[in-house]
Amino acid sequence: MELWFKELHDAASGITFKIKEYLYSGKSPFQKIDVFEVETYGRVLVLDGMVMLTERDEFIYHEMICHPALRVVHPDPEKILIIGGGDGGTVREVMKYSEVKKVTLVEIDKEVVEVSKRYLHNISGALLDPRLEIRFEDGVHFVKHSEDKFDIILLDTSDPVGPAVSLYRKEFYENCKNRLAQNGILVTQAESPWAQLTTLKNLLSEIKGLFHKTTLYLSHIPTYPGGIWAFLMMGENYDINKIQRPLPPGTKYYNDDVHIGMTALPQYLKEALDGNY
Ligand code: SAM
Repeated sequence: MELWFKELHDAASGITFKIKEYLYSGKSPFQKIDVFEVETYGRVLVLDGMVMLTERDEFIYHEMICHPALRVVHPDPEKILIIGGGDGGTVREVMKYSEVKKVTLVEIDKEVVEVSKRYLHNISGALLDPRLEIRFEDGVHFVKHSEDKFDIILLDTSDPVGPAVSLYRKEFYENCKNRLAQNGILVTQAESPWAQLTTLKNLLSEIKGLFHKTTLYLSHIPTYPGGIWAFLMMGENYDINKIQRPLPPGTKYYNDDVHIGMTALPQYLKEALDGNY
């Protein structure tokens, strides 16, 4: 008997995987967590029924949320804050920079870290890096009450449901801004411009006027809704085209050409965002 996983991206379309082996299914105090092996994408992490990552294409998202800010834009990225990211993929990419002295990961759900360590070895390995501090708490609370300042803040969060809802509000971005050191850069994943355009537009209106500079950039991600994903870079003082340091070896998606092309917006998106960006 064949077992298939299905995630609907709208009322009548989505993605489906033929499951080879179910590895984990559990419920944390925050969300349902599933991990299974599928025929063509390796192991898949699913939270509340939504694909977070697959072993085959996770490198695209984790490279794109991290390298544009760390490699190009910030002059001296020593202290990094990651909100969410309990699977460790973003931590792995950040740790490729010797300039980085300390990474603070604020992940609300300890279960996600434990499950990723147990079943997603190619992704969670950096969670053992001595430069990493993991705090199991709500990112909204952390940025509101911490006194710390960070050179780069990466919002590697899940979709705006469950524990992540409050991560898409103006007050949260204002508090993130307060946690940025001088020349600090904030990057957030910004959902699918194809399948979740309303969410992207809401996010843009939440942050409108908050930062001197905002840069929207895109990448393709095969297993995400619409196969295309948006990221938002924000800060007071950066030049998106000013390369500060060599690209660390080992990236499989991000490179100089991708960096130049990633801010080019397709016409449908330009028209849809008219006035919002
Ligand atoms: N890195 C994955 C990817 O490739 O897209 C997906 C993101 S990661 C799994 C999303 C994480 O955000 C989850 O582990 C979830 O528990 C965490 N999260 C959700 N709401 C949060 C909050 N309010 N504070 C901190 N972490 C939160």
